Amino acid sequence: MRLSLATGRAARQTLRLVLLLSIAIAPSYAATSYTISLANPDQHLVEVQIILPEGPAQRELQLPVWNALYQVRDFAQYINWVRAKDRVGHALAVHALNKSRWQITGAEAGAVVEYQIFLDSPGPFGAQFNSHHAFLNLAQVLMYPVEARSTAMVVRFSHVPEGWRVATPLTSLPEDRFGAENYDRLVDSPVEIGDFKESDFDEGGGHYRVIVDAEAADYDMEKIDAMLHKIVAAATSWMDDRPFDNYMFLYHFPRGPAGGGMEHSYSTAIAVHAEVPLQAPEVLESVTAHEFFHLWNVKRIRPQTLEPVDYTRENYTRALWFSEGCTSTAGDIIELRAGLLDERHFEQQLAAGITELERRPAHLTQSAEESSLNAWLEGDAYYRRPERSISYYNKGELLGVALDLAVREASHGKTSLREVFQWMNQDYAKKGRFFPDSEGVREAAEAVSYADLGLFFSKYVAGTDEIPWDDFFRGVGLRLVEGKNAVADAGFIASQNFDGPVTASVTAGSEAERAGLQTGDMILEINGKIVRQESSQEIAQLSAGDTITVKVKGRRGGDRELKWKVGTRDEISYALRDVDNVTAEQRERRAAWLKGEAQIPQEETH
Ligand SMILES: [Zn+2]
Repeated sequence: MRLSLATGRAARQTLRLVLLLSIAIAPSYAATSYTISLANPDQHLVEVQIILPEGPAQRELQLPVWNALYQVRDFAQYINWVRAKDRVGHALAVHALNKSRWQITGAEAGAVVEYQIFLDSPGPFGAQFNSHHAFLNLAQVLMYPVEARSTAMVVRFSHVPEGWRVATPLTSLPEDRFGAENYDRLVDSPVEIGDFKESDFDEGGGHYRVIVDAEAADYDMEKIDAMLHKIVAAATSWMDDRPFDNYMFLYHFPRGPAGGGMEHSYSTAIAVHAEVPLQAPEVLESVTAHEFFHLWNVKRIRPQTLEPVDYTRENYTRALWFSEGCTSTAGDIIELRAGLLDERHFEQQLAAGITELERRPAHLTQSAEESSLNAWLEGDAYYRRPERSISYYNKGELLGVALDLAVREASHGKTSLREVFQWMNQDYAKKGRFFPDSEGVREAAEAVSYADLGLFFSKYVAGTDEIPWDDFFRGVGLRLVEGKNAVADAGFIASQNFDGPVTASVTAGSEAERAGLQTGDMILEINGKIVRQESSQEIAQLSAGDTITVKVKGRRGGDRELKWKVGTRDEISYALRDVDNVTAEQRERRAAWLKGEAQIPQEETH
């Protein structure tokens, strides 16, 4: 075992060297070179120096306005100053063209651009530099030369505090530098610099690096490695593909609100609350399976509407129901195959997802495609109200399940969602093509099922028709049961935002409203317990008449603690149950469905 590991490493070193040489000695070598100075952790200030090679006299430099989240965040707000000089040190004029773009002139022999930027936004979607560590999504830090965005980029870190190391999926170059073939690849590579713990393992020919930045008492590296082994093995076998040699998992387990993961082509950055790894490992498993599957779905199986990335404004796509939602569907399948999720929990989760969708009145007015298109509004509290919007994660995940069942029905069990993804991987990702949003998903689903799925897409993806769940579940011998109960009503609805649960709406006239709870408040704690998910245990356990204590953080900062008495209301909820007299055929299809496989091996279908 050890030997094969060592041999694998040697081979990778050689490959890395070849890559490095091809970057370093290519005749057209004219890499843009960045130096990020980490001299000032206490004030969260980073200084960036960009060395531009010789070229046009006039250059433009752009700092992205968005990255990671589908939200315009205007990272330029954190830039304190920008200056430029030529290669011999004479100052060059810097002219701001708009809030995120600068022009310099006199750069024909090359130029040096310098700026200072404040970085203190934590989490997988942020860029943070403090006395503990630096975690960088480089698109929030590095301007790109507009005319040279597609050329090679080199980055180094200076004034790295004593004892800190650098972890990143970027290619290592000599002299502690890192390289990427272009800006897009550079900023698709998160960077952790600090005193982290590290582990690695090989699985199915791939090498995996695990970086954890957390308190030692909050996790067990062996358990994380064991989980990752199962997830990567299940995912690569499900896709019958491993489009990388090296992949990096980067975890933060902060003792504060956290939740979420960010996908990258060769890595993922995930942050969950410190209690999760040991006390709620299923949360870590679920986010990890989702983010890992993204290396195919959205990073490689990629909608045309997101390419080429336009860093200067919103990039509208109707495909997030698939790129995000169906990634969750696939994540569940991976967990089922990995033995991390069983049938009972999977079906409970599914019914909870249906309940969530059906309870949002907007499921009759906003389609999955429109929800995708409007992702850019998710930062706005009003938009998140149940009567205004649905979640493309929620409906998309359910559509993934419905599509899986529809393809199985149409193909008489011969194909499934697995073949849809594999088809898209072969026909788009492997050919370097991007798929035309929902139309591309339909094309794939029809190609593997030999059926016309036009109505499925027009009614449930582009349209807002009620999904006839029982028609889909019948094939696997299940039916949806609706229940209506008088339930405890805390007087508000929470929805999961990218950085945790947020109050989506407060019932008019409720005790919660009288206590001062406001739409948009971020929920930090309920009855003294840190909240991780929107339908938290703490809310579920409440009875009418109980007192609820909620600690919230307002949209404009400031923690508040609120208290009120829980009321009641009628609530619809759904559960999945066996149909009467489940047939052998239904049992057989259900077994295949729970494995994410077709009923008849592919070889026999041709
Ligand atoms: Zn995702």
